[in-house]
Amino acid sequence: MPIPTIFDRILDGEIPCHRVYEDEHVLSFLDVSPISRGHALVIPKERKAHLHELSDESAAAIGRVLPRIARAVMAATGCEHYNVLQNNGAQAHQSVFHVHFHVIPHIGDQGLGVDWKPGTLADGEALAQAIRAHLEPNGTQPPYTL
Ligand code: AMP
Repeated sequence: MPIPTIFDRILDGEIPCHRVYEDEHVLSFLDVSPISRGHALVIPKERKAHLHELSDESAAAIGRVLPRIARAVMAATGCEHYNVLQNNGAQAHQSVFHVHFHVIPHIGDQGLGVDWKPGTLADGEALAQAIRAHLEPNGTQPPYTL
């Protein structure tokens, strides 16, 4: 059995949270160290570390709920701009290894800072073809390497 993450312990009721939403598949609560007012987390109840490990059922449930959480956070905080962030793997800044989506309002100078250095798409069609091959009905999914 993997060591329970802090979010497993929240799901188990061992650790309190400021819950904003819950259904059969999804829990949403306020981030304990918010980047901005209203910074919320949305997690599946399915215990998986990374997005690519999620079942279709959990993924669909998260997809349905995210816009609702965003609307509620916007209404409660008055923010008009926000980011949805989802990190996978330590090098991609994941610190809690249970899938989670951040909903981060951008209010004044508070919000997510993005250090995005755009590159050039050199081999677009070859790359798209390589990715498509893994998405075909009989395609081989790449191994998980995180
Ligand atoms: P990430 O870097 O994407 O893994 O983000 C993990 C997030 O979980 C951070 O923003 C933390 O502030 C947040 N976090 C950690 N522990 C708790 C907790 N007990 N309750 C709410 N949020 C938490």
